[in-house]
Amino acid sequence: MSNENHSHDLDEDLDGYVKIDRYNPEMISKIAGHYEDILTQLGENPNREGLLKTPERVAKALTYLTHGYDLNPTDILKSAMFKEEYSQMVLVKDIEVYSMCEHHMLPFFGKAHIAYIPNGHIVGLSKLPRVVDAFARRLQVQERLTNEIRDCIQQTLNPIGVGVVIECRHLCMSMRGIQKQNSVTTTSAFTGAFLNEKTRLEFLQLISSKLS
Ligand SMILES: [Zn+2]
Repeated sequence: MSNENHSHDLDEDLDGYVKIDRYNPEMISKIAGHYEDILTQLGENPNREGLLKTPERVAKALTYLTHGYDLNPTDILKSAMFKEEYSQMVLVKDIEVYSMCEHHMLPFFGKAHIAYIPNGHIVGLSKLPRVVDAFARRLQVQERLTNEIRDCIQQTLNPIGVGVVIECRHLCMSMRGIQKQNSVTTTSAFTGAFLNEKTRLEFLQLISSKLS
């Protein structure tokens, strides 16, 4: 069998992933080596054509799915903070979440809804999805993900309050034979004004049309 596709093209061949700094060729080749063993242990033949580049692809996929370790969510927020007197609730809903459960290393995915009440500062709206991504692209549990997003916004922006609701499907539940194929896990975390029932209800009502 030809070996021509097995050359060291790690830098150029990104298999469609956004280029990120974590594609350290040495690290990719180490992880790929382990996956070759794993394929063998699973009873597969890592040398058959369809699997030849699989270890390398898996290594890149995993590296991409955990690139949040290299992102600093606080810096992301600080890069677009503006003085503004607006003091009503700011809500961004239906933010896509893709993360990996740290217990099974299987995906969980769904939506995040974030609200805050400014206290002199607002943040560029596009930064909130990026903060979600920075925390989600790591090995996670949904509960911690929710709290980390809340704490980051509270500590950086110092708003009057923050509300975060995340609803996700976990493949470790739906794929492992547990009869919960369609269940959605919802987590929430609040600070300040959102601990007040009236504010929290307003937030939950605003997002409730999307709660499934
Ligand atoms: Zn799991």
